[in-house]
Amino acid sequence: MAGICGTDVHQHNGDLTIKSPLPNIQGHETIGRIVKLGNGRVHDVSGEHLKIGDRIMWIHVDCGECYWCEVVRRPVLCANRFGYGFALRGGFAEYTYIIPATKVVKVPDELADEEAIGAGCAFRSVVAGFERLGGIGLQENVVIQGAGPIGLYSLLLAVEGGAGKTIVIGAPKKRLDLALKWGADHVINIDEIKDPAQRKEQILDLTNGRGPEIVVEGSGVPVAFNEGLEMIQKGGKYLVMGQTSAATIPVAPGIIVGKNLRVIGSASADITHVYRALQFIKNKRTKYPFADLVSNKYQLEQINDALANMEAGTEIKPVVDNRNR
Ligand SMILES: [Zn+2]
Ligand SMILES: [Zn+2]
Repeated sequence: MAGICGTDVHQHNGDLTIKSPLPNIQGHETIGRIVKLGNGRVHDVSGEHLKIGDRIMWIHVDCGECYWCEVVRRPVLCANRFGYGFALRGGFAEYTYIIPATKVVKVPDELADEEAIGAGCAFRSVVAGFERLGGIGLQENVVIQGAGPIGLYSLLLAVEGGAGKTIVIGAPKKRLDLALKWGADHVINIDEIKDPAQRKEQILDLTNGRGPEIVVEGSGVPVAFNEGLEMIQKGGKYLVMGQTSAATIPVAPGIIVGKNLRVIGSASADITHVYRALQFIKNKRTKYPFADLVSNKYQLEQINDALANMEAGTEIKPVVDNRNR
């Protein structure tokens, strides 16, 4: 099973900041069942023995030798990083070859594919982002921009991380209903409240007139950045994860200085974050219906429809379901 991500839409349209060599098989959030084992890894990153029939998830391959891997110690920034679905063969396929240098995690047996799939991209990216944010202070209010997978998983980490009020801004209603089900205190539908000034007013009303301490951007819409800067409390933190397009907009940088803001960018993640995301899902699966995130299943032949519907925003997390092939 392979999830379809907002990044896939940008990549398909050619407006992604990362340019993939062509030809390319897309799909970077995949659960695969091992059908054949070579002479590579015999265990996953937590030491679990791997055998034929096990389900695994994997992540981009970093070189472990460059300045970013060895000195900065942030493999996510590796100068020679190979990404599945970018430079290496991706998940929109019946079979894929996992190169021996790849770090893999065994999917816990009790998890359905639908529960686990989000850990392949959105959830692990959110786990990495929150690590960079340094977590949420007790009872700090959090506004989340975007109600797609990045926004929804951010909501879970905010709720479980001790947030005060959690407010999700997004659309359509289907996504916001899931946000409410997953513990959002308040949702704002951008299809109904179209004026950003009006949205800010609502948020100020809900946050003692000061705005939230933390804003998490998971919308991917460039102008959402300005809206985030506008609403955030003085001294607040802004975690930006959704902006993967190369689009530019006018910004007033003085807001960042004047309000003493900390703006934190975060993209992708490492295998530790995939592991932790899967553990979170395993430990909280009776509390949150994780499988509800999967809004639709497509056969591989329907991939173009899946991408079009993802772009139109009518999906939450569509997947390519190859299990019965
Ligand atoms: Zn993705
Ligand atoms: Zn490297």
